Amino acid sequence: MNGFSPKLTRRHFGAILAGGAFTLAAPAVLRADTGPRLVVIGGGFGGASAARFARINYPDVNVTLIEPYDHFVTCPYGNLILGGKRELPQITHSYDGLRARGVNVVQNWAKDIDPVAKQVTLADDTQIAYDKLIVSPGIALRWDAIEGYDEAAAEIFPHAWMGGDGSQITTLRRQLEALPEGGVVGLATPPNPFRCPPGPYERISMIAHHLKHHNPTAKILAFDAKDGFSKHGLFQDGWAELYGDMIEWIPASQDGTIVEVDPQEKVFISEFGERHKVDVGNVIPPQYAAAIARDTGLTNDGGWVPVDPLTFAAETAPDIHVIGDANIGSPMPKSGYVANSTAKQAVASAIADLRGESPPADPVYFNTCYSHVGEDYGISVAAIFRVNEEDGIFETPDSGGVSPRGPLSELAHNRRREAEYADAWYDSITKDMFS
Ligand code: FAD
Repeated sequence: MNGFSPKLTRRHFGAILAGGAFTLAAPAVLRADTGPRLVVIGGGFGGASAARFARINYPDVNVTLIEPYDHFVTCPYGNLILGGKRELPQITHSYDGLRARGVNVVQNWAKDIDPVAKQVTLADDTQIAYDKLIVSPGIALRWDAIEGYDEAAAEIFPHAWMGGDGSQITTLRRQLEALPEGGVVGLATPPNPFRCPPGPYERISMIAHHLKHHNPTAKILAFDAKDGFSKHGLFQDGWAELYGDMIEWIPASQDGTIVEVDPQEKVFISEFGERHKVDVGNVIPPQYAAAIARDTGLTNDGGWVPVDPLTFAAETAPDIHVIGDANIGSPMPKSGYVANSTAKQAVASAIADLRGESPPADPVYFNTCYSHVGEDYGISVAAIFRVNEEDGIFETPDSGGVSPRGPLSELAHNRRREAEYADAWYDSITKDMFS
């Protein structure tokens, strides 16, 4: 991480709807020369997709993307680094492609949003004016949720749940490489909702894949704050087939919820007070929307942003469209694919509104989450989502499903093809973000 810790001012967006007024600072304001100004906060799956889509489809619109890092390290395919199947440069993407398309990429943190003046304030107090704002800052970790787990503890027990500068996933990989022979890797997995429902289980798989080849007597203790998870049966089939008894998954009902950690002693402590010694610990804590969304009053009490399912306009601020993991998009999962798919509807709705038009009707949102379980072994869950007045977002019946279950001897071809589809998905979505 770059050490910047934004100190943000809480603003009450509800006041706009109630006709409240705000006092403005009087700083330099960057203004685009002509055309509507679309400003995007966050250059990840939602934000980069939105900026690129806007430049291609609305050439008269000035697009500014605010992102603190000079490169984007994807969480998707990060687990493959642990499995030794990818290296960091292969999941690291430059913003040059977006610059070449005419996106004004501003490398900085957004620290405040003024929805009345329609301005974003950056960490250096520069202000950027917008006509429409897209906010896709992703998640933050709830440092208060597991006792003893704070930013310092994350250097010893990495979470590796946000791309950042890539240091978290690199630390975890180094720790796995240094694991003593026959050592114990502990994982603590959060309750719902959290970023990427199948992600922890792909991670368990990729750690097992590494250990199978380099430390076959090692053990994985996978503590879970839930009693079930995405693609549960498929993962457990794969673990049994590929890794024998290396992985022990401990659900909440069997005291799987980790409530405290002691990184110095390398101990996980469960809800019922059991102390588990681990050699390497990966703690994925509970989450909520990133600070810029919470500290500017866009979120509800649960820490996520309620949005209009048709336009992704925040319930409390109609000119601010919140996409990606930060919003409440259920039943859609918090996935990169959903962030990418919904970014397009959010941009189209924002521009339509500026033109005095209605948002695109009857949108279709897509999701496929692939997971790598082993070498040439992929599984997936897919669904198509639509919107109606009664239900908001709903899953279209029979639109997707999960990979078939059965013995590997019968499904080896299918599993190999799904691993190939996953690679193709990664290539195409990152092109749709950054090229
Ligand atoms: P992000 O992609 O995280 O982007 C947020 C960006 O906002 C970041 O670049 C951040 O630096 C920036 N930002 C934050 N605050 C500010 C601020 N104040 N000012 C300016 N910029 C800011 N999804 C899939 O679809 N398929 C997968 O296979 C998959 N695998 C995953 C595996 C793992 C291990 C994990 C952890 C996640 C995985 N996901 C996957 C989920 C996916 O990573 C997220 O759903 C996706 O990144 C969400 O997009 P986003 O735009 O909301 O957030």
